[in-house]
Amino acid sequence: MHIRVDDVVEVLSGNDRGTRARVLRVDRAAGKLVVEGVNRVYKHVRKSQKNPQGGRLAKEMPIQMSNVMLVCSSCNAASRTGARLLKDGSKERYCKKCGAGSGAIAPPRAQTANA
Ligand SMILES: [Zn+2]
Repeated sequence: MHIRVDDVVEVLSGNDRGTRARVLRVDRAAGKLVVEGVNRVYKHVRKSQKNPQGGRLAKEMPIQMSNVMLVCSSCNAASRTGARLLKDGSKERYCKKCGAGSGAIAPPRAQTANA
């Protein structure tokens, strides 16, 4: 999974195509994520103790991870991401368009740094 919580992504398909928004939740096992304001559905709720008014409740539903692209913070483009090994043995995610790093994905490994 190349997308993490708090990333800004661009939606590539569906009703919300073209929308750029923040990732709220990531479900790695299902390969899905919830993006702020994207794939919003209305749930009609009956009056209850918890919800005395009843009415419609807006809620974002998860979308498939492959339908979004990470928006690079340096070049501001929706781009594919790569992973590269740094000199200290740590791994970093990077933008395939401009090459800017966008956060570590693995801590340094002293033993294998020179291997
Ligand atoms: Zn970039």
